[in-house]
Order: sequence, then structure tokens, then C-alpha cells
Amino acid sequence: MAQDLCNIGIIGAGPAGCCCAYFLENNNNIKVSLIDYSSPLRTILATGGGRCNLANSEFDFKELAKNYPRGEKFLLSVFSKFATAETLELFENLGIETYSQDNGRIFPISNSAKEVRDKFLENIKAAKFIREKALRIEKNGHKFKVVTDMNSYIFDKLIFSVGGHAGYEMIKRIGVTIIEPKPSLVGLVTKEKLSDLMGISVQNVTNNETGMSGDILFTHFGISGPLVYKVSSVKARESFPYTLSFDLVPDLDNFQEILNNNPHKFIKNILSDYLPNRFAEYILKCLNINPELKSHRIDGKTRDKILDKIHNFSLNIKSTKADGETVTAGGVSLDKINPKTMESKEVEGLYFCGEVIDVDGFCGGFNLQNCWSTAYVCAEGLKDNLQYL
Ligand SMILES: Cc1cc2nc3c(=O)[nH]c(=O)nc-3n(C[C@H](O)[C@H](O)[C@H](O)COP(=O)(O)OP(=O)(O)OC[C@H]3O[C@@H](n4cnc5c(N)ncnc54)[C@H](O)[C@@H]3O)c2cc1C
Repeated sequence: MAQDLCNIGIIGAGPAGCCCAYFLENNNNIKVSLIDYSSPLRTILATGGGRCNLANSEFDFKELAKNYPRGEKFLLSVFSKFATAETLELFENLGIETYSQDNGRIFPISNSAKEVRDKFLENIKAAKFIREKALRIEKNGHKFKVVTDMNSYIFDKLIFSVGGHAGYEMIKRIGVTIIEPKPSLVGLVTKEKLSDLMGISVQNVTNNETGMSGDILFTHFGISGPLVYKVSSVKARESFPYTLSFDLVPDLDNFQEILNNNPHKFIKNILSDYLPNRFAEYILKCLNINPELKSHRIDGKTRDKILDKIHNFSLNIKSTKADGETVTAGGVSLDKINPKTMESKEVEGLYFCGEVIDVDGFCGGFNLQNCWSTAYVCAEGLKDNLQYL
């Protein structure tokens, strides 16, 4: 007897939703509809500055999972099934060649996020695209009714992949537990007015609270740049205000020797060997030290004041500023999702993938990796469950 087609709805045609549709594509028992108020994969176009940093060349899935301040434990199960190697195979199958940069970030050889979008869309032609905004979900027995701004649809199973920026209310109403969303990978607004430093980048700085290192960029609102994104991610759940302190020159441990060896050099020029000129002058201004003081005039107290400022450069953080690759910390509680199938433990037949769940990673391809991996596990879990219908 011919089996009835299983009608699957996917709300959200971003990387996670479209990738899930791809993994469901060749199953003859399934009919997939993707609902999105915008064009499919619109959100991928901006990734990696238009180049799409689609993964990171960390092939040990346990190491890979360490790049997620939220979700590490949950992802161990997901990544054991689908991690970097499988992602590269996925892209090969889509017809996209990839390369890896020295810093481990993986991109398409074309350096084109548009190519990634186009190839995915070529490969999910059987899916039906519904360009409408989902407003409400109702569970009627085993079925789901999705009410949009124009119509309503009935599905046997529902995949919810609306990303991290909207849609939580819809699923809260049917009993899904949400961890409060907070921005991550963001710039930080400082209480101190740093506009004099705007545009200055200081390299290889260490954040004393987290031990993480990288570059900081001073902006009109405060601080930004790779290290700040990472710190903002680790601190995403901390309440404001909080203080951060930075070691601006971690390997400056022979300062007195440097002063002794350069007795006639202005202190501003000594510091400029380690920090950008303008920044060196700023530090001296904060400490009320004449920038043209010669090294041999610097006594022990002044030396220690300078060193303290350099090794413990403190800033008061009062809020975040969306900037760059902003993602969301928070979303569907991981305790309430089966990591083997991505099915909700609270609402049978409802599945999740992508940024909508309480997983977020650092910059470097980790957030898209979460999309591909959870989409795969979701599609496979859903197909397995169909066998038992
Ligand atoms: C500027 C920028 C650059 C980035 N670059 C990278 C990068 O290079 N590498 C990386 O790993 N990560 C990057 N990220 C993060 C990455 O883009 C996201 O983690 C990823 O897009 C999440 O995919 P998703 O499918 O879960 O959600 P989304 O991409 O947010 O897609 C969700 C989709 O759902 C739709 N939707 C939402 N609500 C509704 C509704 N009610 N009804 C219908 N449709 C709805 C939206 O229109 C959207 O198309 C970047 C993020 C930003 C902002």
C-alpha cells in the first residue's frame, strides 16, 4: 500500500532551514515547505564580509565544541555525527570547492557567499517556498497548524529555524522553554569616553579576566575587534555594568632595563615601540606624565604607575553595541531538546536547528557549523522518527 506523504514545514529559510531541507530532499516519503517572509538564504549573503566563512578547520569534534561558550556539551553529541569533515563533504556534494586560511577559517574558493546561496537553492528545488511571515503555531493532536500573515498550513512535523533575532514568542506559547536571548560577538560601550582613540587598533592584547588574547579596536562608542567579540561572547550573560582589564603589552617584563638602555629617549617614544603613538600619549596623559620626560628622569614610582596602566588597562563596560557578526546567546533551552534528533522534549513533532537554540560560537565559521550540524541531525532524526509512524 502506498504510504501517505509526510508534510514537513520549516519556518525560516536561513542556512539552518535550507540545509535541513537539503538533507530531507531525497526522501520520497516527505514533502517539504519552507516558510520565510524574506528571500531564502538572504542572511548568508552578509557572512564573512560577503565571502561566507562556512566552517573552521578544526577536525577534532571535541576541540571544535570548545569554541561554543553556550552549547559545548550538547554539541558533542551533534558533532559526533556531523562536524567539519562532513561539512566539507556537504560542500563538495553541493559543487562548492573550499579552502582554508592560515587562521583556520574555511571559505568557498569563489570567496562568494552568493555562490553558497545559489548552490543550496539549486539543490533544494523540490521544496516549496512560501514567502509569508509565520505568526502563530497551534498544535492540533499530532499535527501543527502554522498561521501566517496570509494563510494557514497544516504540517505533520514542524522544524523551527528562525535564527536568533525573532520568533521566540511563537514557540513559547506552545510550551517551549526559552533562555533569555542576549547579544554576543558584539562591540562594548565604555563609560570612559575614548573618542580620542577612535580608529586605533592595539594588537596581541590579553584580557585579564578571561585570559583570551587578540586585537582591540577603539571606536566612537568604546571597544570592538576580534578580542572584544570573544570577550563579549564569554560575558554575554553578565549584567552591566562590569569592568574589564587588559594587558596591553603582555611580554613587557624588562621595562627598567629598557629605560636604563635608553636614558635620553622620551618616554612617549619608548612606549611607542610597543603601542601605537597616539595610544602611548593617551596613557601618559591619563597618568599626568609629561610625554617628553626623558627615561633617566623616571623614578621607580612613575615606572610602576606606567607598568600598572599597561598591564591593567581597565574599562567600565555599560552595554553592548551590535557590530560585525552579532549572534544570539540564548534561545530554545538545550535541556529541552534531544541532541540525537533535535526534537523538542516539550512538544512532540517539533524540531529545531540553527541559531534559534541556545548555542552560539566564537567568530571563525563556528556559527554556520552549528547550522549545518544541527540541520543534519534534525533531518536524520526526523526521518528516523517517520519510520515508526
Ligand atoms: C554580518 C554577519 C556576518 C556573519 N558571518 C558569519 C560567518 O562568516 N561565519 C559564521 O559561521 N557565522 C557568521 N554569522 C552568523 C551566522 O550568519 C548565523 O549564525 C546564521 O545565519 C544563523 O542561521 P539560521 O538559519 O539559524 O538563522 P538566520 O540566518 O537568522 O535565518 C533565519 C530565517 O528565518 C526567517 N524568519 C524569521 N522569523 C520568521 C517568521 N516569523 N516567519 C518566517 N520566516 C522567519 C528570516 O527571514 C531568516 O531568513 C554572521 C552573522 C552576521 C550578522
